[in-house]
Amino acid sequence: MDEKILVTRSTLPPFEEYCEEIREIWESRWLTNSGVKHQALEQALCGYLGVSNLALCVNGHLALECILETMELKGEVITTPFTFVSTTNAIVRRGLTPVFCDIRPDDFTMDPDLIEPLITENTCAIVPVHVYGSLCNDEAIEKIAQKYRLKVIYDAAHAFGVTKNGKSAATLGDASMFSFHATKVFNTVEGGGAVFRDPALYEALNRRKNFGINGEALVSFGGNAKMNEFAAAMGLCNLRHIDASIASRKEAAMRYRERLSGVPGVQLAAVQPGVESNYAYFPAVFDPEVFGCTRDDVLAALAEHNIAARKYFYPLTSTVAAFGGAHPETETPVAARISRSVLCLPLYEGLGADNADRICDIILALKK
Ligand SMILES: *Cc1c(COP(=O)(O)O)cnc(C)c1O
Repeated sequence: MDEKILVTRSTLPPFEEYCEEIREIWESRWLTNSGVKHQALEQALCGYLGVSNLALCVNGHLALECILETMELKGEVITTPFTFVSTTNAIVRRGLTPVFCDIRPDDFTMDPDLIEPLITENTCAIVPVHVYGSLCNDEAIEKIAQKYRLKVIYDAAHAFGVTKNGKSAATLGDASMFSFHATKVFNTVEGGGAVFRDPALYEALNRRKNFGINGEALVSFGGNAKMNEFAAAMGLCNLRHIDASIASRKEAAMRYRERLSGVPGVQLAAVQPGVESNYAYFPAVFDPEVFGCTRDDVLAALAEHNIAARKYFYPLTSTVAAFGGAHPETETPVAARISRSVLCLPLYEGLGADNADRICDIILALKK
């Protein structure tokens, strides 16, 4: 049996580097509550992402909930059903109503042309997702947001380090959420970040993530969503190697693209002009009519070789009754089609072009 290949593998720094990084934590016995590692990582991430503020959180999901809470949003939120369930969960758990907008067939991000008809007097914000490391059409979304005075909050969990014409994705919209989960391009084991255009909201979120406490004073409503020092230390180590890590992902992703682009019945995410991706995921969409077998057939064939691809994202979050009633898939036909036919191929630091080749051999042998 071949060595098992999972869809992702967590990036780790050299063991000794992490040990050295946590020595100070042992010496100071300061384990959490905005210690030196937390402060150093916030500063380092602001530098890397080209932003003036970034509030570290215990995970990306709670960073998004804290953002929605800090911005004091109420009513309806226009969002995408083609996402990890966290996005919709955060909206619903904050007492907001998700209104689902369809996606673009080429890059799978929210289709700005379909937003306006969904706006009502109760709409307060748009929550698009930069899926797979591709960016949303931020200019079109911004125009609509300005016209109707809506806030734009990006789920940027997949967009760490992505730039468009040299500009960081973290600078788009009124706020962005990043996930530093173990499976993401940059990880702090578990972790997340909230970035705001208005720096006053950074301070407000810092209170929200710490029980509403500011120094000794109890100033607002809040929970506990702080990042601890050990997680921040992991982030400081991983950030030193991030460029090499993304370059390694790119090598495998490029090989996939070389081998699979132009194959009838296989659609890859469109290459976006001016966008430098982070190669977070490698989605491939299989059209059974043309390719000759379904996404599930491809998944099964890879599994026979001990290779785990993943149906990501499936199902659409809009079809889940828990989110205020199940919507029929037909409301968002493009998202429905992509969700039924997309497969994310294994992609991680160190996968290598050889393994990408081997995976492509298996896929291409299935073509009828
Ligand atoms: C990972 C992810 C999240 C949640 O982030 P966590 O850090 O795991 O809480 C939210 N949205 C998307 C699109 C994600 O991929």
